[in-house]
Amino acid sequence: MLRAFGAPYRYVQGRGAITQLGEFASTLEVRRPLIIIDEAIKDILLPQVMHGLGHLADQAVYAVFSGECTRSEVARLSAVAAEAKADLIVGVGGGKTIDTAKGVRIQCKQPIFIVPTIASNDSPTSRLVVLYTPEHAVDEVLRMPTNPDLVLVDTEVLVKAPERFFISGVGDALSKKFEAAQCIGSGRNNFYDAQATLLAQAISGLCYDTVREHAEGALDAVRSRQVNDDFERTVEATILLSGLAFENAGLSIAHSLTRGLSAIPELASALHGEQVAFGLLVQLLLEGRPSSFMEDLLSFYGRMGLPRTLAELGLHGDPVPAAQLIAKITWERAPYIKAFTFPLNQDRLAAAILEVHQSNS
Ligand SMILES: [Zn+2]
Repeated sequence: MLRAFGAPYRYVQGRGAITQLGEFASTLEVRRPLIIIDEAIKDILLPQVMHGLGHLADQAVYAVFSGECTRSEVARLSAVAAEAKADLIVGVGGGKTIDTAKGVRIQCKQPIFIVPTIASNDSPTSRLVVLYTPEHAVDEVLRMPTNPDLVLVDTEVLVKAPERFFISGVGDALSKKFEAAQCIGSGRNNFYDAQATLLAQAISGLCYDTVREHAEGALDAVRSRQVNDDFERTVEATILLSGLAFENAGLSIAHSLTRGLSAIPELASALHGEQVAFGLLVQLLLEGRPSSFMEDLLSFYGRMGLPRTLAELGLHGDPVPAAQLIAKITWERAPYIKAFTFPLNQDRLAAAILEVHQSNS
């Protein structure tokens, strides 16, 4: 049995980090970067990215991401990259922009820099690309051959992003410790098709501890739009630690449930980290955690504004058929649903989803 650990070639985080873009690009002898950028932030951030690229800005081209990370969007932007003869892809934006840029990187086989503008999920550091259907349901998951060449996290940019995205990233980070334990405990492989290293296990624990200790102080930073030490630490947890943890230590029930949750139209607009946060409560119920443990975590959810019920995720209708459908789709389609050390079947999963919803309603 082999153990494997992977990571981005370089991770850089801090206020004003975006000014370093050109320096890193020049180490790769880049001539023409293609910037793939989110429409919503283009007017504010494109000038900053261009400034950060320095002399490369004259040769740089940019394309605006359409809003959904689909196969056709990846194909469209790959054609733009080929046409421009781009030798570096720079993905600037939220999770779906980043995943689309990664899809383009797979197609055009050039290096990729990731510049997340929100800390809403664990995708920036990883090789994974989650493609969606035009109806916003998870379609398929691809992998880049390598992790990103650079993940550049400018906390001055992130602290000004909407609060909901930041909270979602916290939800996504919270689950890693528990999913890692279940994936490793059940003998399943990580995303490098190998067993987890000791380092990966330590990272998943550090991710949870950091978020629990600093996320509430970081939320103050987001509300005042001023970076503080809690914010720097929490962002390191929600982007670097959360990403390294899932890819190197593996996933379990909490992330499996995003398959079922995202397939319900009313819940599909919930953010990935919001779905994971609810999924974690289901996983912990199935693990039979003591009520004192659950109460402590649920009160943290309350203070952070993380979803504890299907209604808080957006469900208006009857939760009983919804829970059954979420369980059915998750059971049939989620690749890590068997990465669990406790007895589980589709009915038990449905019952746990309903119990979490009802006990917290
Ligand atoms: Zn995630």
